[in-house]
Amino acid sequence: MTNQSNPDSSNLRALPSVDQLLKSLSAEQTATVGAARSASFARQIIDDMRKELQANGSPQSMTRDQLLSEAQSRWLKVCESDRRSGLQRVINATGVILHTNLGRAPLSEAARRAVVEAAEYCTLEYDLNTGSRGKRGARVEDLLKQLTGAEDALVVNNCASAALLVLTALAHNGETIVSRGELVEIGGDFRVPDVLANSGTTMVEVGTTNRTRLDDYRRALTNATRLVMRIHPSNYRIIGFTAAPTIDELVSFAHEAGLPLYEDAGSGVLTDLTEFGLEGEPVIRESISAGADVVSFSGDKLLGSAQAGLLVGSREIIEKLRRHSLYRALRADKLCLAALEATLDAHARGAATAEIPALRMLATPADEIRSRAEQMARKLQSTIEGEVLSLELLNGESAVGGGSGPNTHPATVLISLKHQQMSAAQIENQLRQSSPPIIARIAADRVLLDLRTVLPEDENHLLQALIELTRAV
Ligand SMILES: *Cc1c(COP(=O)(O)O)cnc(C)c1O
Repeated sequence: MTNQSNPDSSNLRALPSVDQLLKSLSAEQTATVGAARSASFARQIIDDMRKELQANGSPQSMTRDQLLSEAQSRWLKVCESDRRSGLQRVINATGVILHTNLGRAPLSEAARRAVVEAAEYCTLEYDLNTGSRGKRGARVEDLLKQLTGAEDALVVNNCASAALLVLTALAHNGETIVSRGELVEIGGDFRVPDVLANSGTTMVEVGTTNRTRLDDYRRALTNATRLVMRIHPSNYRIIGFTAAPTIDELVSFAHEAGLPLYEDAGSGVLTDLTEFGLEGEPVIRESISAGADVVSFSGDKLLGSAQAGLLVGSREIIEKLRRHSLYRALRADKLCLAALEATLDAHARGAATAEIPALRMLATPADEIRSRAEQMARKLQSTIEGEVLSLELLNGESAVGGGSGPNTHPATVLISLKHQQMSAAQIENQLRQSSPPIIARIAADRVLLDLRTVLPEDENHLLQALIELTRAV
């Protein structure tokens, strides 16, 4: 009787148990996530369903089979979203070259091969010539010396840890002079004052936000001064009424006071990239030849490699960093060193722009992007019927990203998508669900694709995803 009058309680009674749900799954299904997580997903799902039935009830009574099939389909969804929450390759159609959320620089072919090789046993600290223990990162260090003109080099986990190591080893318990115009936040929680505080050096701010003179630095000198630090304000620029000493002036000042000069250069530009519109990024070799005692920069910004913090400088200072106990905690692993070595090798051969994706993307002229976009539009038009999806080519801008070149907006050609039945958000969502997922940008209610950051070998995947869009409705 109660079954008819109260469908909720009958539904509750028909709800399968966790065990029943688990037994209903095939061995293959369970194996994809393992028994333990399969059970934990099942517990959560049955628990959720019980709460929903208790809270809202259900307008009609559901059979045990219906509830079981609902639970199974939830279980599959949870597995799918668990899988999708992990690391996976995506196609970056945003036009932001060093997209921080998408892993900054994509590795070159050679770097990817090197990572796969180093994933096995490798000569990380082994010298094949002598058959005895070798030095970690020896060839990377040699290449860095060659590419920057520095006496020595060292690799740590990222540029933030490079800064932490330098400040701790050189200025712990002492004072570090920094211009107020350089107290920046780079993003991802790298804030200059915090890094100084963490390394146990006292920050002595000099000058003003827009103007700092050599005299300001001079007046800040005390017996406790250990270091003069210069930071490249990577992701922003102060324009207008500004002044800052040149690196040559700062070097002379620091050396006259018997102090080392440390430059945190950020982006890691090894050769002048102004021909590609990139201005105001310090070239590491120039900082070294100006006399900077130690310079730090990132491996995965404009250098185009894996996440790493690269340090170059005088033999004495780099050796001090290498011997510091913090280095052991911050040193780079073999996969990072493998990618770095292959990437630096391309730089050393003069093949950086040809082989390193981030630099190749930066160097691609808008005309070339236009012809790739036109070709894609033609291919799509020849495959699909009707007008359900239309493509329009628009002039636009790409971005460097990764906290580099905030004033550099390479001219590009964007593919704007319009769908008869789908909103921009729906298109963007479906592209994100494709395999591999495609990340697009939306502006003014349009989905925009920028082929600058799409690897040519991925264009077919993108075309397929566009064809799928025409079949979506
Ligand atoms: C990007 C940047 C950092 C942080 O580098 P990570 O490699 O991301 O740790 C530090 N300093 C400057 C000036 C930067 O541009």
